[in-house]
Amino acid sequence: MSSLSRVAEELKRGGRFLIVGHVMPDGDCIGSMLALSLACERAGKETVLALPGPVPSIYSFLPAVDRICVGPALLQRGAGAFSAVVILDTSVPERLGNLEPVINELRASGIPAILIDHHVSAAAYADLNFIDPGAAAVGEIIFDLLKLLGWQIDKMIATCLYVTVATDTGGFRYETTTAATHRRVAEFIEAGANVREISLRVFEEKPFKNMEALRAALNTLELSPCGRVAWMSLTREVAAGLQLADEHTDGIVSYGRMIEGVEVALFFREMDDGRVKVSFRSKNFVNASRLAAQFGGGGHPRAAGAVVQGELERIKAAVIEAAVAAVREEGQ
Ligand code: 5GP
Ligand code: MN
Repeated sequence: MSSLSRVAEELKRGGRFLIVGHVMPDGDCIGSMLALSLACERAGKETVLALPGPVPSIYSFLPAVDRICVGPALLQRGAGAFSAVVILDTSVPERLGNLEPVINELRASGIPAILIDHHVSAAAYADLNFIDPGAAAVGEIIFDLLKLLGWQIDKMIATCLYVTVATDTGGFRYETTTAATHRRVAEFIEAGANVREISLRVFEEKPFKNMEALRAALNTLELSPCGRVAWMSLTREVAAGLQLADEHTDGIVSYGRMIEGVEVALFFREMDDGRVKVSFRSKNFVNASRLAAQFGGGGHPRAAGAVVQGELERIKAAVIEAAVAAVREEGQ
């Protein structure tokens, strides 16, 4: 039996699931959680949803989004009696953030953890792991799982699934987008996903703060002498002055990649706790996941991230040097 069939068996057997995702949740994480929750509910099962941090406002239109609890507090009160914990889109346990201790406690009490992920860098840290780096989004795997179970998708589920694929493929532009991706998406649209409405909400409208953050970041834009690496940064002071939350800096890194000739774009954001969040994007050939792994992170071949302890300027210098070296070494 393939491990996706084993996941299907677990879902069929159980009655109550805890469904969780990662820090700084994105469209794939949130959409997959909601699609799975709605499908479980239609099949007569109960679900509890939790994320370590808040849902970005652009996803607040998603069906059943109000079900998501933020942080471990509610879970600690309502814990127990879960058939399994289902962890989505979360390549390493540290990315569970403040939910990690609660999940460890549940597992210690005998509740199994099921991981469904698609990162090349994913670790098989759960009791049952389904990791498919060939999937454009975890949402694709959720859809395949629902098919295996014979569970129908309705407009609400299709909307959530459409968001997972649309966001993780950068609007169907990355090479992860295959004919099979489009075949699945055709089914989402047939089931009622409204392409225009979703695209407006997710890609074409952002809070004003996103633009203020982008303006501040663009002021710091620099290019390496070889012209192949571009970077921007935001200091704590600037972020505090603009009262920015995590969601307001999402997507800034991709502006560096738009520059002609650039292969690697980097974005550095100083966090409140003395760490720096680094986002890595590559255009054609540099393995961003491998580059991020040099700094304790991971992700996908074209999009990766890391959280690094230390001082902003030193981290910048080290990461830029590694990126320039990666372009030189991995270049054809
Ligand atoms: P972003 O730069 O948009 O936060 O993340 C890009 C990709 O890198 C995502 O697929 C995400 O899962 C992964 N990623 C981001 N931050 C980290 C991190 O700190 N550790 C690991 N392992 N992956 C990360
Ligand atoms: Mn994903």
